[in-house]
Order: sequence, then C-alpha cells, then structure tokens
Amino acid sequence: MDYEVIICFETHVELHTATKLFCDCAVEYGAPPNSHICPVCTGQPGALPVLNKKAVEYCVRAGLALNCEINRNSRFARKNYFYPDLPKGYQISQYELPFCENGFLEIADGNGGFYPVGIKRIHLEEDAGKLVHSAESLEKAEHSLVDYNRACVPLLEIVGDHLRNPLRSIEQARMYLEKLRQTLRYIEISECIIEKGQFRCDVNISLRPKGSKNFGNRTEIKNMASFRFISEALEYEIKRQTEILDSGGEILQETRLFDEQKKITLPMRSKENAPDYRYFPDPDLIEVELETDFIEKIRTNLPELPDQKLKRFIEEFGISRKDAIILTRDKNVADYFIEGSQFAHDQKKYLRWILKELFKLLNEANSVITDCKISPRDFAELINFITQNQITEPVGRDVLSEMFQTGRQPGVIIKEKGLQIIQDDSALERIVDEIFGKNPEPVALVQAGQLKTLEFLIGQVMRETKGKANPNKVREIMLQKLSK
Ligand code: ZN
Ligand code: MN
Repeated sequence: MDYEVIICFETHVELHTATKLFCDCAVEYGAPPNSHICPVCTGQPGALPVLNKKAVEYCVRAGLALNCEINRNSRFARKNYFYPDLPKGYQISQYELPFCENGFLEIADGNGGFYPVGIKRIHLEEDAGKLVHSAESLEKAEHSLVDYNRACVPLLEIVGDHLRNPLRSIEQARMYLEKLRQTLRYIEISECIIEKGQFRCDVNISLRPKGSKNFGNRTEIKNMASFRFISEALEYEIKRQTEILDSGGEILQETRLFDEQKKITLPMRSKENAPDYRYFPDPDLIEVELETDFIEKIRTNLPELPDQKLKRFIEEFGISRKDAIILTRDKNVADYFIEGSQFAHDQKKYLRWILKELFKLLNEANSVITDCKISPRDFAELINFITQNQITEPVGRDVLSEMFQTGRQPGVIIKEKGLQIIQDDSALERIVDEIFGKNPEPVALVQAGQLKTLEFLIGQVMRETKGKANPNKVREIMLQKLSK
C-alpha cells in the first residue's frame, strides 16, 4: 500500500547567554566539572530561582523569527521526574502558556515557492546536568560521575505541529533542520553546534494510508547526534513501519533509540510506561508579563533573516541565486563578503575568489571563516591588485595562501617578494625569444597551424617568469613574432 509519512521535530537549543536561566553562574562549555555551580542550580533547600531576562529576550527573538504569536502572559511549570543529573527532582519548564505559539518556518518547496512548516510552540526551560560514566555504556560502567555545570543552562524547546504542514519526507526533514539551525544562528541566540549538544533533536514519525484523514500511531526517536543519523533513523523507521502495516500489524506508540552502528531503531519505552510528569505551575516563580515595548523593541532590532539576506544579495549585489545560496548559508561568510565588498573594485571577482579560493583554503585547513586571519578588506585589496593588472591570478593565489597562513597584508607580500607583473614589454620579448630558441619543434607546430601548442609555449614563459608575466600579453607578443 502507499503511505503518507508525517514527521515532526522537537528541538532543544542551548542559548548562549552569559549566565544560567535562574542563577548567576556562568555558561561555559568545556569548563572543569562543577566549576560553575551554586545553591540554585544544584537544588539546595531554600535556594530560589531568579529569571534571566536575556534568555526571555532570546526566546521572544526566536519566536518572532519563526513567525509565532508571542504570549503576553507566560508561566513556568515543574516537570517532575527523577534522574541523578536533575538535582531538584524536577525540571523548570513551561506547560500551559509558553512564550511563543503557532509559528511556521518556510522551506523551499522545490517549485520556486515556499512550504511553511508548522511550529506549535517554543518554550524556555532549564537544561539538566551531565552524567559521565566510567565506561562507554551505562551497563558496563562501574560508577558514574555528575557534572552540574550544564544544570540550569537556558534551553529553547521548539515543537513542530503535526496538524499544520508537517514534514512529509526525509528530504524535507533535512531541509527543515538546516533552515532552523541557519535561522537561529542568524539571530545570534546560539551557535547550534551539534557536537557540543547545543542543537539536539527528537523526532516523531508516523505513517498513514494515502488519502486517510486519521493519524497512525507514532514513534519517537530520541536524541540523535547528527543530521546524517536522523536521516538514517527515519529511513529505517519508514521501512519498519511500512512492513508492519503491510502485514496487517499495528504500530506501537513508543519511544525508540537509534543504534548508530547497526543503523536500526530499538524500543526504549512504550506508551504504558511513559513517565507522568505531573506538571504544575512553579510556585517559586511568578507569572511573566511581557510589555508591548519589550516585544516591539525585539521585533525592531531583529537581525536580517536568511531569506531576506538571500533576496538582498540577488537584488542589490546582482549575485546569481546559486551563488547567493552558498554565500548566505553561513551568516559569517555573508558578513565577510559584505564587509569587504565596499573595498573591492570588481565585486564579482571578489565573490568568485571567496567561493572558490578562500573556501578551498578553509576546507584544507579544516577551519571556519571566523578563524580566518585575512581581513575582508585585505582580501578585497588582493583582488584589486589582480584587477589592476599589478599581479597575475596564479601569483594572486600564492599571495592569498601566504596571507591565509600569516595574516599579512597583500601589498607587503607583493613588494617584499617582487611579485609585480612584468610591465616592460621589451623584457618580455627577450624571454619569448629565449623560449622560442629552446623549443624549435613546438614553434614549428604552431607555425604549421597547431595553435594548441601555443599554450605550452606561454606556459614556458610563465614558468620562466615565476608567474609574473601577463599571459595575454605573452600571447600577443608570440603571435606577432610568429606572423612575421
Ligand atoms: Zn548556579
Ligand atoms: Mn524539553
């Protein structure tokens, strides 16, 4: 039978505030264990939480970027469960009245338009601590240690809406996650680095016969460590659920775990033994009332979103859609381009060199643009040396690679190494004569009409001059001499 796939994500995003959600402890990834803890975030009796305003601001910023309604009145609730990394025995989260509801995120629909993926709610909650086991798996561990540095770090939970334009394919699921991460980076509330646990995904998936209005039972797959694992887990689940439904079986509503080695999902817990969190409003925190001014100020100062930037690059800078998509994928790259473009005489060339030469160097060094030693202005100036015919492109590439290593300015490197193009035509003519003299056979071939061989001769001059000759000029001189 033909089935329709319905996919929804619950995404947890760590906000990069300076301090935790309800205390003054610093948020610092990789700090020594339990170096950023206090009575509040370790759940000592009598310690009282105080809400971090910046975290609320970031939450509202995300809500506005994701087209949500912002609730003027909001409330924190206790989500009760026991686990050693949760010192209070409950997590402060939101249940009724989250900060943001009824939003959407547009992804490309493949026909030049957009598909608005429904977002049910966005709420703010605290993260739990972290258990460190003495062996790789909990089963083999002799003991476990707990690090509370992460306890009470502000988390955003973004919940998809299975009733409003849910995701229908693995392809869409991937596009959604990438667009979501890109958007959250653009509004500068989180780096969203998956490896650091700053962007964590649970996914719900169910199947139903095509045309059916009822939803099938869904399974939830917890905590996946990469976009690739998410695709693989979904692929497996679609196959597994299809087989069960085809043979007349029933899908159990359950939580499953993805086995990264075997590429399969395994049951973790069923609906029957799902925890009952007994949510209730947190009596230590008063209801939050957001003033219109507070919300409007965030709206006014909302940074440019990916689609806006893409549109601007195409319209204002005349960049092709394909290049603009690559350029805007990472906000830092887009900003780098904008910063240097005002200094570049030839913006198209400047753009091509970023996309080709700079990306190549970054890839080879396994580095990112924020760690690049070349300032956007220096990069633009290097391109100006090329467009003004002061150095050749091959020399430009060498200079770029030295700039990349050392961060020195292009003008200094060019002057110091004497890399300027040979402007003196008579000097070039002498070199051409010399090359002709050394290569009588290729010269004869060119004279017999085999013009391909001319490239070889030009290459010899380039080698002789260490790339400092203008190849077009060399060609001109050669053709002139040969036509005599
Ligand atoms: Zn604390
Ligand atoms: Mn949560």
